Amino acid sequence: MSQISGVRKLTHGSSLAAAGIPRFGVRTEHEALLAKVGDLGGYGVPGAGPTHGPCPSGPQELEDTNKWGLNVFKVAEYSGNHPLTVIMYSIFQRDLMKTFRIPVDTFITYMLTLEDHYHADVAYHNSIHAADVAQSTHVLLSTPAVFTDLEIMAAIFASAIHDVDHPGVSNQFLINTNSELALMYNDTSVLENHHLAVGFKLLQEENCDIFQNLSKKQRQSLRKMVIDMVLATDMSKHMNLLADLKTMVLQNMVHCADLSNPTKPLELYRQWTDRIMGEFFRQGDQEREKGMEISPMCDKHTASVGFIDFIAHPLWETWADLVHPDAQELLDTLEDNREWYHSMIPRSPSPPPPAGHGASPAGTVCSAPIPAGSQRWMPQEPPGVLPPLLLCPDAAELEVDGIQAPRAPAPGAGR
Ligand SMILES: [Zn+2]
Repeated sequence: MSQISGVRKLTHGSSLAAAGIPRFGVRTEHEALLAKVGDLGGYGVPGAGPTHGPCPSGPQELEDTNKWGLNVFKVAEYSGNHPLTVIMYSIFQRDLMKTFRIPVDTFITYMLTLEDHYHADVAYHNSIHAADVAQSTHVLLSTPAVFTDLEIMAAIFASAIHDVDHPGVSNQFLINTNSELALMYNDTSVLENHHLAVGFKLLQEENCDIFQNLSKKQRQSLRKMVIDMVLATDMSKHMNLLADLKTMVLQNMVHCADLSNPTKPLELYRQWTDRIMGEFFRQGDQEREKGMEISPMCDKHTASVGFIDFIAHPLWETWADLVHPDAQELLDTLEDNREWYHSMIPRSPSPPPPAGHGASPAGTVCSAPIPAGSQRWMPQEPPGVLPPLLLCPDAAELEVDGIQAPRAPAPGAGR
């Protein structure tokens, strides 16, 4: 039981190092044909993100890597039945290889090893299917530009391993026949658990660790995402997943609406700001009366800018990218409102306060960092130090885009 069944020793590493990497990752007499594999009336993906979108094909790329409808069967034919390796190489060539410093020979060695662990004699769940899913995921990922490189890599990797060592029979069949695998995984998502175990185990083979240059945190995060994604491919979870998807959209819709003040016309937004500030100050009065520590408060203008930068804009931008592409007008209003509040911040002649999350004394104006230049919208890089304006009465920490930002005392900041 300590062994993961199906994992075999294979050696691609030495031969690769000796002969160099072929143009498409595998040796084939059909390189020219492979480069030109067409799509079957599919379409490209317009407006893709900056790091993952379609760009003119490089020399190692299949011409139609970014098209929905790439003829994956032709890729299988022209690559000597290595469609998974060729397609993954073509996708990763774009920038993932560079971003995560994956050595090319390690990448090819792992992919060939993974591909060898798909069963060529299984009609559907073979490496052509894995290649098809990986390439489809790649195309789907390029439209909403909201995913990080690590999330993109996790999704494509999950696709590549998601059916590895599939025996060509279903979970129920394995359970009904008292198979070793069903015993191993207690009849629960038997195949999906096995695909994951094999996919990760193969990373430990010689020259196969494509994630060797990731930080420990990145590896942990990637592993968790991949496990979640592959387990979710269990068809018995389909109905629940669909229901969850709708619930999630609805939950986030209400959350967006709850934080929608800054996306409304300025005249309305200002009234909401005044109201929330009034409410916060009254709470402060009560805290004073009761001899409690008074929650830190900030000037409403800086609070609004901080709230938009760290809470509202990331939320609404993600919502627009994922769910509601027509929300541009709303985002424009949000950015105009941010500019208005920004212009209302009195500029202090003194240098900005020292870094830190310290509270501003009540009644004083927090000095928010003023973005350089006069851009309408400054995309917020994860700041080393958050401006002090982001302190809130309940001081609850809220994670936005991986930034631990204290919740802002701002309009519509939930209840
Ligand atoms: Zn599948």
